[in-house]
Amino acid sequence: MYHVSPVAYWCALSQYYHLISPLVPSPDVLLADSKVPFVQSLYKCHTLLLGPTPPRPENFFCDFKDTPAAAGYQRKLLLAINASRLKTLISLTDRLSSDRARFNSLSDKHSSSWLSTPPISPLFTLPDQSFAIASRLRLGLPPVEDLKHCICSASLISNPLHFLTCNLLRSSVISRHDRLFQCLARVARLTGTTVESEPRLAAGDEGSRADGKFYFTSLSNFVDLCVVHPAAASYLALAVKPLGAASKREKDKSLLYERVAQSQGALFHPVVYETFGALGSRGAIFISRLADEAIANGVPMIEDQPVKQFLSRTLSFTLQSMKYRELN
Ligand SMILES: [Zn+2]
Repeated sequence: MYHVSPVAYWCALSQYYHLISPLVPSPDVLLADSKVPFVQSLYKCHTLLLGPTPPRPENFFCDFKDTPAAAGYQRKLLLAINASRLKTLISLTDRLSSDRARFNSLSDKHSSSWLSTPPISPLFTLPDQSFAIASRLRLGLPPVEDLKHCICSASLISNPLHFLTCNLLRSSVISRHDRLFQCLARVARLTGTTVESEPRLAAGDEGSRADGKFYFTSLSNFVDLCVVHPAAASYLALAVKPLGAASKREKDKSLLYERVAQSQGALFHPVVYETFGALGSRGAIFISRLADEAIANGVPMIEDQPVKQFLSRTLSFTLQSMKYRELN
């Protein structure tokens, strides 16, 4: 937010300076020691935004004199600035730390979907307590202020996010998994795809079940969904890169189920979320395929949104609405 106003000002001026330029009486007005307010503001913006973009301040008046900045310039600048800030932030953390894992996970675009979605549907809102906990999770804080120990006696001072892996909170974790899958299945059914819950998917000598089987027109798709916590000790080494934890879990699940699914003439899709909201690439592919199937079924939109966007948003809110009854 710190950079939004300066970038907005810079971009607005870059788009309209060609209209102002003919009114400038002399190039001397455009020097750094100018008393003209818009020139002063421009130089201040540049000092604040110093980096590879935007262009040098003294070139601004040449670059945009005849050619206004193209649409989307503000977004392009902010993306570059935010990427640079994220890189700096990550470089300040220890390689095998929960902070490094958290920042890497938060860099995935799906992790902020619940924050950038306008509240245009009851599905896109969070109760106050869930919003507070989800926000604190992003910040690496314990779920409640002044809470120093978990009910299992683990310290929340040394590990503020312990509650995401505590065995005594397993019921909340299971409930979150079930609600995520139900959300996926409900949207699929709404768009004309038949879904079978917990179909048998034999693996090795022991029987096993996937979460669901989605019957697309061309092929059936087994889906198994889970949520992993990249800042857990067992994932720290993998979480040194974005989606490292989710990718590992996708591979593990694929080893277990993929060949068996293929032997039944079906595909297998692991849908793996990270606790911070990042979504593994295989899950993102399945959501895209489900949306394509919806279009083929003549249902391209739900609640005036493309199916893919609606589903991604709904899953994002469902993930963050995890209820920790044990904390009350
Ligand atoms: Zn605990």
